[in-house]
Amino acid sequence: MKSILEEYKCGKARLLTMLEESDDPVVKTLQPSLKTGRKWKVTEAVDEAKECFKMNEVIGQTQTDRRGLGSTTAKWWSKTEGKEKRDMVTDEIRNKEDSKLVQKAVQQPQQGQWTNWDTAIQRSLIWNDIWHMAPLRISFLIRSVYDLLPSNANLVRWVKKDNPKCPLSQGRQTTEHVLSSCKVALSQGRYTWRHNRVLQELASVISTAKGEIQPSSTSSTVFTTEDGVKKWHGGSVIINICEITLLSSDHLPLP
Ligand SMILES: [Zn+2]
Repeated sequence: MKSILEEYKCGKARLLTMLEESDDPVVKTLQPSLKTGRKWKVTEAVDEAKECFKMNEVIGQTQTDRRGLGSTTAKWWSKTEGKEKRDMVTDEIRNKEDSKLVQKAVQQPQQGQWTNWDTAIQRSLIWNDIWHMAPLRISFLIRSVYDLLPSNANLVRWVKKDNPKCPLSQGRQTTEHVLSSCKVALSQGRYTWRHNRVLQELASVISTAKGEIQPSSTSSTVFTTEDGVKKWHGGSVIINICEITLLSSDHLPLP
């Protein structure tokens, strides 16, 4: 997802370069000034990007990865024209903005955890998707991704609790622990139960869409505990799996 600030800066830079290269001699010589914020000036940013390209041209082509010499093609500022030139400027501004965000993120232990994700699957979310999601679902999604749910470990960090332990396994109760790595929850079949509930939900949606009679959902799948069989009802159990209530039953992250 692109930041709005980044889009704003790129838009301004694109407009300035278009005006600079205008076919109309009046516009070209007049050099209209574009209004931007106090801290960021579009003319300075564009000039900086151009200087950067000129510098790169002086340095020449360098090897940045393990590919063979000459296998990468570089775009040279002096040899490009029109739209390609404008794109180079906006790309440079975009890259600068991205690297600024990354620099900021690595300094933040909690919010910047994504800088350490190596195997995470990319998910493209656009603003339109977010606006059409139920508020509590998006809240759960974001807070689980950035580890901001009130697990015991986080409650200790926020000085709301003294004990970060999981009541089931006595391990440190982080969000990851609750959702997928509590050994006791695994041995008691709670994760299987959750998995089956999700499948049940999918099956009922599909059968409703096909116009079939819905399978009865009264037989709540059970998991066994040491003192026998325990039944779970309602929705909050998906989150309640590790005996903590991250959200109430209305806040279910359905598939
Ligand atoms: Zn546990």
